[in-house]
Amino acid sequence: MAYEVIARKYRPQRFADVVGQAHITETLARAIERDRVAHAYLFVGPRGTGKTTTARIFAKCLNCENGPTIDPCNTCNRCREITAGTSMDVLEIDGASNNSVDAVREIRENAKFGANNSRYKIYIIDEVHMLSTSAFNALLKTLEEPPPHVKSFFATTEPQKIPATIMSRCQRFDLRRILSRDIADRLRVICEAEDVNASMDALVAIARGSQGGMRDAQSALDQLIAFRGKDLAEEDVLSVFGLVSQRNLEDLAGAILSHDIRGLLNAIARFDETGKDLERVLIDLLEHLRNVLIQAYSPENELLQELTDSQLEVVRQQAARVDPARVSNLLDTLLEAESRLKYSLSKRTLLETSLIRAARAAQHVTLDEVLRQVQALKAGLPAESAAPEKKK
Ligand SMILES: [Zn+2]
Repeated sequence: MAYEVIARKYRPQRFADVVGQAHITETLARAIERDRVAHAYLFVGPRGTGKTTTARIFAKCLNCENGPTIDPCNTCNRCREITAGTSMDVLEIDGASNNSVDAVREIRENAKFGANNSRYKIYIIDEVHMLSTSAFNALLKTLEEPPPHVKSFFATTEPQKIPATIMSRCQRFDLRRILSRDIADRLRVICEAEDVNASMDALVAIARGSQGGMRDAQSALDQLIAFRGKDLAEEDVLSVFGLVSQRNLEDLAGAILSHDIRGLLNAIARFDETGKDLERVLIDLLEHLRNVLIQAYSPENELLQELTDSQLEVVRQQAARVDPARVSNLLDTLLEAESRLKYSLSKRTLLETSLIRAARAAQHVTLDEVLRQVQALKAGLPAESAAPEKKK
């Protein structure tokens, strides 16, 4: 059989297989069950989170020969045509390359006629924000008076570029960045099916490298298998992405929090010499320290649920060690460095000086701490000493 890329081969074909977007797939399923499917839907979200995949499954739900159903059969002709992208009634248009008014007019002309052999004529317009103003105006006409057999599904990464008149005629669904843990779990299933041996650390590293995008993660897995064969270790993944291991990152954060300047300089030197992406190091460090801050202020926060048990353990230890106001100050220092690092000619020097400043910020007594000490002192003083303030 011909080689097929992983992202294609394992593209979800049912709502139940879409990872991390249950809030959307469940709502769509309910609309189908209650026969309350709207004319136009807008799927918003970062790249590779499943916008067009969801739209395509939705189209299958509506047009499946056994439907409308919340669980398309994937075996009837109509389902198979939609999967293959050859259905005459489910037309996928890339807004980036067909952004002219003519393209939309063609859709409108076309939409006047009924579906060929399906229940609905469905237009899926990807990157819809790329349409020109006149194309949007033409599209608006279709949305204002939608023929009953026409459904429009739009996908976009940049909803702010879509005119309000279009937005107000769509039901909007926001897809989330997919949790690293969920991506790693999905990759594990794929690895088992493909006979690939990969440690969970390696899969979590792939998920980290692809920043919440399932498609990017699957492409990376493809690339790694091509490059390393069927045995993947965390180290392979880290070197491909230029990432630093979670352990090294946590140690670096520890060095900052405990003002270990020598330790942090050694770490940066090592990262630089082994070709790590220093911008990425800073971003990952920021994320880790943000988790430390969240742990200090709001340990039940759902953002922390994304962490593996060993990550959470380190975050807890570090949060217990330093006053949260200090962590917040040092985060400010690092955020400022992040905005400058992109344009810096010597990233290593900027990173070194910024981390030293951050380490110093971790040592500075904050106003909160001073106030707390004053309160404590006052509480410990005899009543008459505290009296004058009460009279005021
Ligand atoms: Zn079917």
